[in-house]
Amino acid sequence: MSAEEKKCPHCNGKLSKWQPPLEASWGTDIQLVCFNDECPYFVKGWEWMATKYQQKASYRYRYNPETGEEGPLPAWSAAAHKDRIVDDEE
Ligand SMILES: [Zn+2]
Repeated sequence: MSAEEKKCPHCNGKLSKWQPPLEASWGTDIQLVCFNDECPYFVKGWEWMATKYQQKASYRYRYNPETGEEGPLPAWSAAAHKDRIVDDEE
């Protein structure tokens, strides 16, 4: 199964290739991230962070195709991280 076929387990949406910043703990490997703003994981994250931490923040589903590890990518706004999406034409 190629990385491209991996889908978000929360919304079944397409995952986008995302280049982590250098300071991120995942190294420089391309990560696959669900950037669907309607994704239940992302939508519920706002409520959860507000209730639990009084934070206006959420997180997106992230998958590391190199290691198979998955986890949250913290996002402080709906636009956060979108500037690092690696465009694959077509
Ligand atoms: Zn999703």
